[in-house]
Amino acid sequence: MKQLALVVPCYNEAEVLRETHTRLLEIVSQLIEAGRISSDSLIYFVDDGSADTTWSLIEELSATHAHTAGIKLSRNCGHQRALLAGLLHVEGDAVITVDADLQDDLAVIPEMLDAFSNGKDVVYGVRKGRESDTAFKRNTALAFYRFMHLMGAEVVDNHADYRLLSRRAIEHLKQFGETNLFLRGIIPLLGFPSGKVFYERHERHAGVSKYPLKRMLSFALDGITSFSMVPLRLIGIMGMAIFCVTSAMSAWVLAVALLGDSAVPGWASTVLPTYFLGGVQILCLGIIGEYLGKMYAEIKARPRFIIEQTTR
Ligand code: UDP
Ligand code: MG
Repeated sequence: MKQLALVVPCYNEAEVLRETHTRLLEIVSQLIEAGRISSDSLIYFVDDGSADTTWSLIEELSATHAHTAGIKLSRNCGHQRALLAGLLHVEGDAVITVDADLQDDLAVIPEMLDAFSNGKDVVYGVRKGRESDTAFKRNTALAFYRFMHLMGAEVVDNHADYRLLSRRAIEHLKQFGETNLFLRGIIPLLGFPSGKVFYERHERHAGVSKYPLKRMLSFALDGITSFSMVPLRLIGIMGMAIFCVTSAMSAWVLAVALLGDSAVPGWASTVLPTYFLGGVQILCLGIIGEYLGKMYAEIKARPRFIIEQTTR
């Protein structure tokens, strides 16, 4: 029988943790009773440097309940790294990552296991609709997925980080040493057989989102710059086009100045290229700078997380 591990990243989730634990434990117990998973299957809560009572709650739940364990990161490393810490730490033939806030429907876990039993190494949880999200989040998410496809990155639409990975998939995931972690871009690169299960996304059970706009934007930028060279290439193409136009303009200016007898003191033709090229150059520098910064972070290759403590 296969051992299942559930990895739940938690950042200041004290308000919802008890409920999440109760529901997960119920599912794990049912699956064990039904003989679907082995009795050493575990729920791992990864405390991502919470400032509230999350860790003491995790310690309490681990001490008082079966199938419950915790991992404490030494500081807040972010959702993606907390997920990775869990994935790389836990044992288990199959590992499911799921958010702590009960937005992802836990009822599809047996379906994920079915797909796993049928030979899928990766099972993506895909949201059927986004009614529970604000219109803003829905639209920005849609734009993001469109843009990612346009940029040539392979991502599964409407899939966040609710997924099952097989032991084999996790072993290979270890070879991806990136600092700017964007798991939903990396997992499809594993190339293993994959399946999807569809679910309705609920409202957050309690507490508030830990992804304010600033974090969302930086996460989206990570996704784009980690998986696509297209922006850099566009700069090259744009540079070439601008070079052609400005070369023609220069030839025209020279011709008027040297051959004609009426060199018109052109205001527009002086000012426009200055403004335009200034803007283009700064934009290009910004894009190049973004990649350069990412490279800087990658080259330093600092540890992506540090586990301070575990409950077992
Ligand atoms: N999370 C984390 N570290 C962070 C931010 C978030 O471990 O720095 C966890 C959080 O506790 C939750 C999951 O990541 O379990 C998703 O975060 P959240 O629900 O706030 O994001 P949203 O669903 O609003 O995009
Ligand atoms: Mg959430």
